[in-house]
Amino acid sequence: MKRIALVIICLAFLASSTFAFAADVYVTKNGKKYHKETCRWIKNRETTKMDEKEAIEKGYEPCSRCFKSKAVSDKSAQKAKEVVQKAKESKS
Ligand SMILES: [Zn+2]
Repeated sequence: MKRIALVIICLAFLASSTFAFAADVYVTKNGKKYHKETCRWIKNRETTKMDEKEAIEKGYEPCSRCFKSKAVSDKSAQKAKEVVQKAKESKS
């Protein structure tokens, strides 16, 4: 009986994570970026709720505050570090 409950919990978790992937996002009236519900940027603004896929199709870009991993890839972050390092070296 316990095992069945565990399976149900696992399925519920999988379903919820799939749902999270197709997340709702929020856009502001004149904004060109879409945000997560928790973003501070849209906290006191009038927003329109839509599917993330829909937002992308409409030409919206992910907000750099709430979609850090999408906006800034690891490679460009690494490059930025290298630039800073080089700047430091050239100074000394
Ligand atoms: Zn945002």
